[in-house]
Amino acid sequence: MLSVKAVVFDAHGDPEVLHVADVEKPVSGFGEVIVRVKACALNHLDLWVRKGIPGVKIPLPHVLGSDIAGLVAETGPGVEGWSEGDEVLVAPGFGDGVCGECLAGRENYCANYKIIGYRIEGGYAEYVKVPVGNLLKKPSKLSFVEAASIPLVFLTAWHMLVDKAKIKMGETVLVVGAGSGVGMAAIQVAKAVNCTVITTVGSDEKAGKAEALGADIVVNRKVEDVYEAVKGATSGRGVDVVVEHAGAEIWDKAVRSLARGGRLVTCGATTGPQVSIDLRFLYSKQHSILGSYMGTKRDLLDVLRLVEKGVFNPVVDSVFPLEKAVEAHKRLESGEQFGKVVLTLD
Ligand SMILES: [Zn+2]
Repeated sequence: MLSVKAVVFDAHGDPEVLHVADVEKPVSGFGEVIVRVKACALNHLDLWVRKGIPGVKIPLPHVLGSDIAGLVAETGPGVEGWSEGDEVLVAPGFGDGVCGECLAGRENYCANYKIIGYRIEGGYAEYVKVPVGNLLKKPSKLSFVEAASIPLVFLTAWHMLVDKAKIKMGETVLVVGAGSGVGMAAIQVAKAVNCTVITTVGSDEKAGKAEALGADIVVNRKVEDVYEAVKGATSGRGVDVVVEHAGAEIWDKAVRSLARGGRLVTCGATTGPQVSIDLRFLYSKQHSILGSYMGTKRDLLDVLRLVEKGVFNPVVDSVFPLEKAVEAHKRLESGEQFGKVVLTLD
């Protein structure tokens, strides 16, 4: 057995469960590629999986990591168009490729949809095995660290705003949590279609960074009430779209911030999954509550085209060597980050 270095965990728990280990080097099967990982960005999903998700069985020991950039190291049988040494970015999800949803290009609706690093081995390792269909050419202008900061959050933000909320040019959008990966991406997607963006932060230091990303109005939620701030900024009307992923803590304020006919799209519940809805408010104001999960490879291709044009830019908060995965998890868990926390390998 050829062994390679990885960060694994053998039991669910605090960041300290993560440790460096020698694991078996993956072998490429038909249609698969081995990628030598150069950078792997963290996502909140990593924290959930590490802690353990009720009802979800993760085979242990497990290697996390969904956002991977690196080099093609080996191509399996049936793989064409890629060679050893190609610089690549890996799309984080894939469907079974045979169901109606997959055939319609909606693989994130596939009953067998998989996310790399979730219930299958991910990129906290020297090498990772991925389906060839997940390979994308790394934008040449981006470093590996920057490239790894793009896929999951940008395809999620794109899917939420473009595919789900069907954002229109010039609308007003509330993006919850500018410093989160999805937040920083959603601000950029909304600004790309000339929307007015109101966003929330937890510190004045982050406010400046949110403004630099293009946010028009930044609300420090520790100082100001988000709902009152939205009302003030929109002359009492509210926003057309809310991009939400924080869950319980912000839910009521987020819903109340919607204008008549407004759409709230959510992709997460970092502060808790249980919320309530006043149906009288929902129907009389004709609101739409939309759930969104990941996005499609097509979404990611659209995103990368805009990365090439310089419309979208990755925001990197901090970089840690793979061996410091514990510290990287603590950084993301602290909520003090602005943008992506990324692991690197030599
Ligand atoms: Zn499918």
